[in-house]
Amino acid sequence: MGICHKRHIEIIIDEHGGLATKMNNSIRVETFGKNLLEGMAVQPSFKALHLQLKDYRFNVSYNHDREIWLTCVLALQSVTLGNFGVGCIITDNDNTLVSYGNNQVFYPLFRSDFHAEMVTLNHFESIVKPPVVSGYKLFTSLEPCPMCLARILNSGIPEVFFAADDEEGGMVHLKEALPKVWVEMMENRRIGRANCSQKLIAISEMLAEMNRETLDDRLKKRSG
Ligand SMILES: [Zn+2]
Repeated sequence: MGICHKRHIEIIIDEHGGLATKMNNSIRVETFGKNLLEGMAVQPSFKALHLQLKDYRFNVSYNHDREIWLTCVLALQSVTLGNFGVGCIITDNDNTLVSYGNNQVFYPLFRSDFHAEMVTLNHFESIVKPPVVSGYKLFTSLEPCPMCLARILNSGIPEVFFAADDEEGGMVHLKEALPKVWVEMMENRRIGRANCSQKLIAISEMLAEMNRETLDDRLKKRSG
């Protein structure tokens, strides 16, 4: 178990590889991301991406740059542990980080439901418990899949932004094909591409592609 105490946040990476946090209300996305990058043990094949994220300078002309950068940092962590490379965060009205997560389908235990958005929403719903979720925003490095899009809609989170398109597995570009009840839930929601730099979109795409073929094969083979 690794525990590191930081000024505004306590990051606990438990024996299951799960991330648990105790935080007050003033966690800055970039501080947390830098701390996470510093503590991350990356495989040599991921070193270049690690460096790109470490040296990345936020582009102020994009208002979602910091948030998407952090989803990429979290995606790098999941991919280096042998999972799909997807990261997700939820911020509140003040753009303060309130929950985060990454893909944990294969490591440390097989969990078919542990997509980044699901892990992040599980954590959010277990610790934050706001009476209404207006003002919260969910950011993810990759376009949500059907399972996650339905879950996000059920959660009530009104604004959802993703960096990379997912033509193969994404549901947002097919959202009108969801059953009627979910299509109705989409009214008054904003679900679309994040306003971040092309560089971060490219990094998000690379992270999502890294283990993807192998892991997709492993999923397909579970049916025998
Ligand atoms: Zn998903």
